[in-house]
Amino acid sequence: MESLTRSIRGYSIELSLLLALAAAVGYFGYLGYGLRQPTPDAITFSGEEALAHVQTQLEFGPRITGSDEHIAMGDWVIRELSEGGWEVFIQPFEPLESISARNILAVSGSGPEVIIGAHYDSRIFADADPDSANHTKPVPGANDGASGVAVLLELARSLDVSASGKTVCLVFFDAEDNGRIPGWDWILGSRYFVSRLSALPKCSNPEFAVIVDMIGDADQQVYRETNSTGFLVDAIWATAAELGYGDTIVNEPRFAMLDDHTPFLQAGIPAADMIDFDYPYWHTVDDTLDKVSAESLARIGRTLEAWLEKGAPYTRGN
Ligand SMILES: [Zn+2]
Repeated sequence: MESLTRSIRGYSIELSLLLALAAAVGYFGYLGYGLRQPTPDAITFSGEEALAHVQTQLEFGPRITGSDEHIAMGDWVIRELSEGGWEVFIQPFEPLESISARNILAVSGSGPEVIIGAHYDSRIFADADPDSANHTKPVPGANDGASGVAVLLELARSLDVSASGKTVCLVFFDAEDNGRIPGWDWILGSRYFVSRLSALPKCSNPEFAVIVDMIGDADQQVYRETNSTGFLVDAIWATAAELGYGDTIVNEPRFAMLDDHTPFLQAGIPAADMIDFDYPYWHTVDDTLDKVSAESLARIGRTLEAWLEKGAPYTRGN
């Protein structure tokens, strides 16, 4: 009897709490309904999270194509993406005889396919180091390699793919950065990827490709890369300006690069390279974590997130 009374009383208290809660939610929900607008608050890309991804990559050691460290780091990328709900595909290839490499493709969403890419290898030799004794040492690759990967991984977490109306294809290219080393060349992974495009399980018909490379420099100056498709650059740089990043993502041309966007351009696919080539530590042993900032990573990531979440608009012409 007593226990029953307690139960009845408990039940009725819970019920009235629930009713009150439902009323409150309904009330505030109703108020919010008419007021809600898309705002920059919807951008959730975190520079701090991206910087942590740079650090994790450096902890693997140099990510030289074919090395155990590089394979372990690639496995980590695959795990992160899979656990984040992305569908992951591996594209193995041999850039040199007996050297194994793989491009990593992560896919989410539906609609027209768009590619956001970065290379995830680091250069074998720091042959641009001012000290020639360092020319046979590997490049740590905090900016040249890790920064682009970090932006892609943080986009994988933060991007509202359904808002984009696109099939978003994140591509991690292997074997980008060993040009002018005997036997090697630049952009071997992206060349292979584009040469086998029609055989891909997904993302074989991309509307465009945007590459991010060396974009984490704390002293950031990302100019328009002049080989890139003009109308894509117009659209992305305009979004950066809307977000207040016009001082560091600068709407002026500088540098013409051979990079992972090149094979896409050669195949007639619109492509843009976001790259900050004013980087004194390029291909030196000083391309280290302290040269990269969360703020710089955030400006690139938030620009891409904002542009993609409004449907990646552009005006064809240039
Ligand atoms: Zn490089």
